[in-house]
Amino acid sequence: MKRIIIHWTGGTYQPNTHEWECYHYLINGDGVVVEGKYTPEDNLNCTDGKYAAHTGGGNTGSIGVAMCGMYVPNKTSVEKTKYPLTKVQCERCFKLIAELSGKYNIPITVQTVMTHYEFGLKNPRTSSAGKIDINWLPPYVVSSFEVGNFIRNKARWYLTH
Ligand SMILES: [Zn+2]
Repeated sequence: MKRIIIHWTGGTYQPNTHEWECYHYLINGDGVVVEGKYTPEDNLNCTDGKYAAHTGGGNTGSIGVAMCGMYVPNKTSVEKTKYPLTKVQCERCFKLIAELSGKYNIPITVQTVMTHYEFGLKNPRTSSAGKIDINWLPPYVVSSFEVGNFIRNKARWYLTH
C-alpha cells in the first residue's frame, strides 16, 4: 500500500451499506472502528471491480479511512450538519492512521497521508477535484488549509505514544 487517504462519509454517525463498501475503515461517531467490505489489499488492483472506491482517480494502492458524519441535505452548507465529527471519533481516526502507517510501512508525509480534499487540490483533472472532505474539523480550531497538517501531526504523535 502506498498511501492513506482520509475522508468523512457525508452521512450519519453510523456507516450505511454503501459507505461500508467505499472505505476500508470507518470510524463511527462514538469512535468505534468498523472494517469495510474490502481490505486495503483489494485496492492493489482496481481493475476487477472488487475494491473500495473512495477516491476518484486515486484508488489504486490507497487505503481509505472515513469518519462517519457531516450529512447535510442538498445545497445546505456543511456547517449546518446535525452530525459534526466528534472529538473521540477524530482522535480514534488519528490513532488508526498511526497504526496503519506502522502496519504497512507508510511514512506520514504530505505525499503519503492526505485528506481527500488535498488529493483533489493536487489532482484537479480527477473526479476528486472539489471534494471538501476534510476541510473542517469541528472539534478543533484549525483552518481549511491546515487540516491535513493537523491530522499528520496528530498521527505522528500517536505513532510515538
Ligand atoms: Zn472523500
